[in-house]
Amino acid sequence: MIQIHSDYAGGNIKVISLGEVVRLEQDIRDSYWWFYWNFCVRCDEEREVVFEFMHGEVVGPWGPAYSLDGINWTWLGEQSVMNAKSFVYRFNSDHPEAYFAFSLPYQLHHLEQFYERFQDNSIVRRDTLCLTEKKSDVPLFLIGNANAQEHIFLSSRHHACESTVNYVLEGLLAFLIADHSAFLDRFCIHFVPFVDIDGVENGDQGKGRAPHDHNRDYIDQPIYAVTRAIMRYVRELRPVAGAVY
Ligand SMILES: [Zn+2]
Repeated sequence: MIQIHSDYAGGNIKVISLGEVVRLEQDIRDSYWWFYWNFCVRCDEEREVVFEFMHGEVVGPWGPAYSLDGINWTWLGEQSVMNAKSFVYRFNSDHPEAYFAFSLPYQLHHLEQFYERFQDNSIVRRDTLCLTEKKSDVPLFLIGNANAQEHIFLSSRHHACESTVNYVLEGLLAFLIADHSAFLDRFCIHFVPFVDIDGVENGDQGKGRAPHDHNRDYIDQPIYAVTRAIMRYVRELRPVAGAVY
């Protein structure tokens, strides 16, 4: 018997049918067609299961991202790819449960793990930028010299599903913090890891949301509290550099 669920941080799937082949599609929600999906499967039999997606090409060249605990992810590998719409996985009784996703997920619990490594470091400070419409905290990190004259602004997840950039920024920041480089004496980095934090945690596509997504909200009358807050924050900060993902 096969059971599928997605009721966890970042989960997203629609089950079409559970037979010899499991048929699925990504849950588009309020976006136009996009490719994000993330689900957990339990299969108590030792056998191969083919997963076939029914709404466009949504399996990348390395196959799905894959995890046994929903926290630590890696790529399942190109040998798992049948075509751009399907992949195959062999369940074994040691691990009847496995998680699969379009790409390596990065959720709030990943960020908390990252922060734990550096929370006692005096050059890393945590704040809240604002609350979202759903009253979630939007985390803001200040990394470096609190009295710096020069500031850098980084933000990611304007499109909720674009998780890989968080691994890149995590690597960059970990390198700078561990090194406690002269760079961080000179600059203060202001980092908003999840602009659309509700979308990230809900497992939304985020890209192409109706009426428009967070990336398209830098307009005269923004509709999201977080983009209003970023516009205000950056105007006051006057950073020497910024990167928006
Ligand atoms: Zn984007």
